[in-house]
Amino acid sequence: MAHIGILALQGDYEKHARSLERVGARVSEVRTAAELAAVDGLVIPGGESTTMLKLLDREAMFEPLREFGVSKPIFGTCAGAILMAAKVENPEQASLGLVDIAVRRNGYGRQLDSRVAQIDGEGFGALEAVFIRAPIIYSAGPGVRVLASYDGDPVLVEEGRHLVATFHPELSADDRVHAYFLRKVAG
Ligand code: GLN
Repeated sequence: MAHIGILALQGDYEKHARSLERVGARVSEVRTAAELAAVDGLVIPGGESTTMLKLLDREAMFEPLREFGVSKPIFGTCAGAILMAAKVENPEQASLGLVDIAVRRNGYGRQLDSRVAQIDGEGFGALEAVFIRAPIIYSAGPGVRVLASYDGDPVLVEEGRHLVATFHPELSADDRVHAYFLRKVAG
């Protein structure tokens, strides 16, 4: 059974664990490099990316996380998507650079402080997308596959082993996005 870690330094990590358990993953919370080394894939949840960066720095987890992503799958949602990006603006900040996307934090402005939208995912069909102060993916490199868009911009993308959502699939009563990530981890 694939063993998936949820980065549990800050933010919305518990609901991810429930979704992943429902689709059959073995799940652990990850706060240290030793815990990270024990898992086959990782979820970086939503929350506040600036706070997460500070905690990653304090716990000396930034570099282990980046190295983990060089060979193992990571699913970044919302703040996690910001951490996965190659480039971040509004304001500029450090990121893991594991997926070739450029993101603007809180990129939809006040209009998307919080919104539930219906999107259409490639290979998924209709999906509910819960946006909370979401980043906007304003550019994506040629290796990035767009699985779903909202309002003309990508909101669910993958590049190689990694998956990124600017919305919160763990807040919908639908575990298909987590099941998709589990399949990526299980290979
Ligand atoms: N706005 C947050 C950030 O910039 C992300 C919001 C979220 O994860 N729901 O980090």
